[in-house]
Amino acid sequence: MRIVLLSLLLVGCGMNSPEWDDNHGYGWTFDVQCESGIKLRYTPTLYPGGFAYEQLSNCHFYDTTLQRMSDCTGIPLPQRRPFIVVLRRDQMPLDQVSGETRGGYHYYSPSLILVDETATHLRHEYLHFLKFQATGNGDPDHLDPQFAYPNGCVWTVPWI
Ligand SMILES: [Zn+2]
Repeated sequence: MRIVLLSLLLVGCGMNSPEWDDNHGYGWTFDVQCESGIKLRYTPTLYPGGFAYEQLSNCHFYDTTLQRMSDCTGIPLPQRRPFIVVLRRDQMPLDQVSGETRGGYHYYSPSLILVDETATHLRHEYLHFLKFQATGNGDPDHLDPQFAYPNGCVWTVPWI
């Protein structure tokens, strides 16, 4: 009975879909699994001696920023943690409107966050993540005032 229920849950969440199989096409290889559960891939984009390597290859940066976004927005930290991939800007998905590459991107189910090598969009993508985990709606139209410049948490939460 337990197996049947688990199977139904998996089907219900779409966990046997192609998105779950290949993580939206980005695969499941990671460089480090943080204590919080965040899985992070930063190679080959970041490398020792390269731009911001010490900060952006470090779990502390991702864990602390997520905690700070949760504290600022009042959205509780969920059990689930995102899979994060750092890519070169020219490898990022294209914005449908502007036709330019995005600085960050959040895929839902499974939760995957892409950030470029500056990670300046991390807080923005974390807000999508927190809202999606809390409500099932990641707010793709950015209606939440916490997205807004200059007073939203996306802009006011300090970097590490
Ligand atoms: Zn967004």
